[in-house]
Amino acid sequence: MASDKFVSQIADIETDFPQWYTDVVVKTKLVDYGPVKGTMVIRPYGYAIWENIQRELDARFKAFGVENAYFPLLIPMSFMTKEAEHVEGFAPEVAVVTHAGGEKLAEPLVVRPTSETIIGHMFGKWVESWRDLPLRQNQWCNVMRWEKTTRPFLRTSEFLWQEGHSVYASGEEAEQETLSMLRLYESFAEKTLCMPVLIGRKTEKEKFAGAVATYGMEAMMHDGKSLQAGTTHYMGQNFAKAFGVQFTDKDGTLKYGYTMSYGVSTRLIGAIIMTHGDQRGLVLPPPVAPIQAVIVPIAMKKEGVLEACFALGKTLEKAGVRVKVDDSDNSPGWKFNEWEMKGVPVRVELGPRDIEANKMLLFRRDTCAKEEADLGDAAAVKTLLASISSELYAKAKARMQSRIVAAKDLDELLGGVNAGNFVRAGWCGERGCEDKVKEFAQATARVLAEDNSEAFCVCCGKPAKHTVFFARAY
Ligand code: ZN
Repeated sequence: MASDKFVSQIADIETDFPQWYTDVVVKTKLVDYGPVKGTMVIRPYGYAIWENIQRELDARFKAFGVENAYFPLLIPMSFMTKEAEHVEGFAPEVAVVTHAGGEKLAEPLVVRPTSETIIGHMFGKWVESWRDLPLRQNQWCNVMRWEKTTRPFLRTSEFLWQEGHSVYASGEEAEQETLSMLRLYESFAEKTLCMPVLIGRKTEKEKFAGAVATYGMEAMMHDGKSLQAGTTHYMGQNFAKAFGVQFTDKDGTLKYGYTMSYGVSTRLIGAIIMTHGDQRGLVLPPPVAPIQAVIVPIAMKKEGVLEACFALGKTLEKAGVRVKVDDSDNSPGWKFNEWEMKGVPVRVELGPRDIEANKMLLFRRDTCAKEEADLGDAAAVKTLLASISSELYAKAKARMQSRIVAAKDLDELLGGVNAGNFVRAGWCGERGCEDKVKEFAQATARVLAEDNSEAFCVCCGKPAKHTVFFARAY
């Protein structure tokens, strides 16, 4: 039984979603605020989610032929200025080191906001011949972008991410990987995070500073706002020319390579929270949940109960379930609340009567339904975890689909986003119309739809060049 007092510690998810989010991330001990404004401490329960994301994604990259490496945190200031759009895009948010070792530095150093420049520099050294291509490396690291308003996981000055960078001999190949990585992210979001996404190309206004084309995946949060959950970028020869990434081709001529990059960050944790969470707190997708099943002993002091719980824990662990026996000195009711708030997918209740009947009670966090299984039946727990995963995805997908509406003019678009929808609308391709949508409806172009089914621009009424998904965004 969830006591009212306990539930009331979390703000109402429908009427005060921002406070709900803050309450959930802090009370479930995912994060705490760092002493420097805009920084966050990722606590063990939050970091364990990140480790699971990392492990799953890393395996996918490696299966795709990408190698891991590590590049330095500090970048010479002069590197940032080599690609004109890049420096303009990132200048407002870079942190600069001017002093070190008690002296003023001859050249200031930038704390990496992203690593295209330094990796471009190193690739320029390493690439000589067409035989060296493609070169495909990824790093798991932290980056820093000075932010004025911050929220844990969604926007913080320092965050963790992976950034993959590749050089190819041809633009077609580099573009192909830009799309392949977008698909890899989409599949990861769907299968591992149980989170449906919209993928597509970004507009010029929304693209990465220095890219020829940026593609994004967008997820719909509980409040109907969009969260950019990952991006891939095709750079053409922009960075290759700025950093001298050249190779001798088969015909003996010297050519510039074509580069691309891609990244996802600890933002994904925020995406999971805001996609699946409910009034009781977190609802974690089983593939990334640090604890997939928690065993709560009932009448713990009775002879044989704890032993049976630990034996069950061993059985589940052997079957590959991440499991914890909560033998802490709290009441079962307190433990129920705690683990529900922390979003553990399955709770196993085990007391003297269950043991006598050779049964166990399984509670699933997503629907709060209970079912009985034979004591020690690990397959039943695994089946339940799998069905939670597929149902979490199906539920989120149905919600997203039901909340994509079309608009013919700005008033309809405004009404659509006000009601917490993504809005499909035509766009003539002019920056002025995109700006006007932002001004009028506080909505931005998230991605371009693959099909162009709308005839006219939602803003100016001229023929539409693209169909766009507009939304308010985090
Ligand atoms: Zn227009």
